[in-house]
Amino acid sequence: MVEMSHQASTFKKLLERDRKITILSHVNPDPDAIGRALGIYDCLKRQQFQVEVVNASEDIPLYLDFLPHYQRIKKKMDFSDSLIIACDCGSLDRLGFALEDREIVNIDHHVTNTRYGALNIVDTEAVSSSQVAFSLLKKLYPVSRESAICFYAALVSDTQYFTSNNMSQSVLDFASTLVGLGADIVEVSQKMLHRRSLASLRILGVALRSLELRENAQVAILKISQEELAHTGAKMSDLDGVVDYAKSLATVEVALMLVERRDDVKVSLRSKCVDIGKLASHFGGGGHSNAGGFEARRDMETLTDEIIAEIKKRGLLP
Ligand code: 5GP
Ligand code: MN
Repeated sequence: MVEMSHQASTFKKLLERDRKITILSHVNPDPDAIGRALGIYDCLKRQQFQVEVVNASEDIPLYLDFLPHYQRIKKKMDFSDSLIIACDCGSLDRLGFALEDREIVNIDHHVTNTRYGALNIVDTEAVSSSQVAFSLLKKLYPVSRESAICFYAALVSDTQYFTSNNMSQSVLDFASTLVGLGADIVEVSQKMLHRRSLASLRILGVALRSLELRENAQVAILKISQEELAHTGAKMSDLDGVVDYAKSLATVEVALMLVERRDDVKVSLRSKCVDIGKLASHFGGGGHSNAGGFEARRDMETLTDEIIAEIKKRGLLP
């Protein structure tokens, strides 16, 4: 915590020196990335900073449209001389912009974070990157009800509604603090869970039909082709949570979902207990011990065999 206080004061100095801030989050953003970015946006805006909030993806989850400032998210950066705040992003390339000569404050919780910022505020123990952002901001500025709603949405998403295996009393305390600041528990859950797109259910059906079990049913594999994506009209954000169905099977320890895109395959990895963070890094991606991902330019069959071979080589299965 001493280190966090030191980092908070360095962060404040950078903010007050530049007064012009660009908040970025990773491509294919999840609610954690968007919630966290908007929570920071609200807080800094109230302090009269010049702030823009940008995400390079075409596809931002629509069901997050109830979050304060959602409509402010831009696809393009307008500031060329601002301080960059990177949210929930393990590596520089996942921000989707050329930022090599820019000063970056990297606020994250991924174990695989490459510390690409001038200032790196990375707490790998935090269940959600909103927890890192909140701990930092509350030392510097008042945190509004609007910020609390955004951080709460990020938290419920990253903990899968308080069911992930890194849950603890302190996470519930954090949730309670956000509720105390005005986050509406029922509204956030209802808005996030009960406004799915039709395409997201259609693609879930497609994914479940592809289910394959390998290695004594300890590894589950879901595959979605480009044609299936096009046929259902699903976007990448419609696939949020699909891989977790494969993980929910009693025998399964590791679940994979492979999604064929125009130029590559996006792989999502999930595990119950074993650490798959290094497995994701091995293939050029990253993530957490129980959730990771990467992108690769190989066909889905070859890739599946390679991942299973690597899982066996690392002795990840009990
Ligand atoms: P998802 O499978 O939901 O896209 O991602 C699961 C976790 O892995 C998230 O924490 C996400 O940030 C991380 N992740 C997914 N794909 C990549 C990738 O290509 N590179 C890196 N560094 N992390 C990824
Ligand atoms: Mn995230």
